[in-house]
Amino acid sequence: MNISDLSSELDAAQAGLEMHALASQLYPICRSITGAGVRETLKILQQYIPLDVHEVPTGTQVFDWTVPREWNIRDAYIKNSRGKKVIDFKTCNLHVMSYSTPFHAKLRLEELKPHLFTLPDDPAWIPYRTSYYNENWGFCLSHSDWLELKDDEYEVCIDSSLQDGHLTYGEYCLKGETEEEILISCHVCHPSLCNDNLSGISLATQLALRLAPVSRRYSYRFLFIPGTIGSVTWLALNQALAARIKHGLVVVCVGDGGRFTYKKSRRGNTEVDRAAVHVLKHSDVEYAITDFSPYGYDERQYCSPGFNLAVGSLSRSAHGTFPQYHTSADNLEFIRPQDLGKSLSMYLAVLNVLESNRAYLSQNQYCEPQLGKRGIYKAIGGHGDSKRQEMAML
Ligand code: ZN
Repeated sequence: MNISDLSSELDAAQAGLEMHALASQLYPICRSITGAGVRETLKILQQYIPLDVHEVPTGTQVFDWTVPREWNIRDAYIKNSRGKKVIDFKTCNLHVMSYSTPFHAKLRLEELKPHLFTLPDDPAWIPYRTSYYNENWGFCLSHSDWLELKDDEYEVCIDSSLQDGHLTYGEYCLKGETEEEILISCHVCHPSLCNDNLSGISLATQLALRLAPVSRRYSYRFLFIPGTIGSVTWLALNQALAARIKHGLVVVCVGDGGRFTYKKSRRGNTEVDRAAVHVLKHSDVEYAITDFSPYGYDERQYCSPGFNLAVGSLSRSAHGTFPQYHTSADNLEFIRPQDLGKSLSMYLAVLNVLESNRAYLSQNQYCEPQLGKRGIYKAIGGHGDSKRQEMAML
């Protein structure tokens, strides 16, 4: 079996259900760019694919960046003066700004307010906020809950730790006929958020599962890494290996029902760019093609001038363009099995083009070959496109 068979025989509905089930399993975990949430996530993925887990120590210099301290959180809440929890991390992990420093104090509402984040335009949704590289703490809540807060003295508790530790990432390699690689990369650093980013983790896992048993021309490298710092770290530690990457795709936002979006590599006309555009053009889906820009996901690092890899990104609704993006509304209802299944089928179609694409070199360079003596001159009956086939041979 090869990737062409895999692509044509895919039961997209069943695959969609499996991807949604994995997203549901990972949904409750509080992930960030480092810490126990990433480890727990990778451990669950190891039940599906035998990925290697790498730990890179805090302080490791990776190009212009430094691997940060490791963040972990056990609990967080805000209690009013009657002891009632008005915000509770245990009910939703988006309530705490990621990388919030440990904090425990009593504050008046006015002192608390600069640390509260809401979405006044979508008052029922909880925003997702991070402060990885600026020490700070904060809570996120729905604007309607914020409006309910009375002037009072609040007990604010963030039971977190920010200490030397590790940055954790997962890597899974499948050897092919050649050492040339196709990179499939997704980020693993968002807490309970589905389209961005559990859909990408689920699709990459399904791809790995399905590609493992089939014959492959290319080798495949799957990276499950924290956004930005993860790809910077991998590239810094594997600069020589990066040269093997011939094509790559960053898997993000593949579970919503929006139109497909292909974001080209920075080079813009590489084989993976042409393969993705070809597949979209010949499919029945609505799509948009966008040029590279240094805003988005890990393609920013893979395509940085020093590497300039042929890495694009195939998603549904583009980064930041859907209202649910980085809010509690990017949940398990927002991603649907049928949309995940369709996205997987498009990924397999692009990989099939890359695997099958060949530039043939004539073994008969001096004048055209005599088709007749080989019995193939105008001998292709019954084909509507016999003229094209003949032209291809000539
Ligand atoms: Zn994001």
